[in-house]
Amino acid sequence: MISSFKDFAIGVIASLFASFITSYAIQFIQLGKNFKFKGILNTIINYRFFIYWGLLLIVFIIARWFIRKKIEQSQTPYPMIMSIGSNYDLEGDVEGYGFKWRVHADVRRKNHISNEILDINAGMINGPYCKNDYREIKISRTYFGRYKYKCPKCGYKRILLKNSWTLECEVKEELEAKYRRTRVNS
Ligand SMILES: [Zn+2]
Repeated sequence: MISSFKDFAIGVIASLFASFITSYAIQFIQLGKNFKFKGILNTIINYRFFIYWGLLLIVFIIARWFIRKKIEQSQTPYPMIMSIGSNYDLEGDVEGYGFKWRVHADVRRKNHISNEILDINAGMINGPYCKNDYREIKISRTYFGRYKYKCPKCGYKRILLKNSWTLECEVKEELEAKYRRTRVNS
């Protein structure tokens, strides 16, 4: 869809440019010495499709800018200080948003008798990895600013509104919440 939209946009620009060169410019040259405002006005009226295309293009550009901005605003902000890797109590793989993630966590609370983990603090997280072959996912942006996640090996692909940092935070919070829920139920 994206590539076809690009082709369409390029086609529009090309046709605009071609029509401008062939007719619009020539008409201006012909106006020459007896340059009149009315002449320009007539030219504009005659080539109003040119203006329509231009307006359509401007609307597209504004819509794109607006959508990209909205998507960026909806992301989890980056912390002021990034925590540096340290030794964690736990390491495990989880699945989230269609990817695999490797989570490193610290145990916050344990049941003293059964030794069951009651609360964790998810620290570092690695990923996203492909759910089929564990390859590191490559991230790019689509035309309207969505995030495209693609496995370079098997081609597994997902398009999401969230960037990888936002996904990491969500996966961490989801995991912590899971431990909290088990505590409540037990
Ligand atoms: Zn893969």
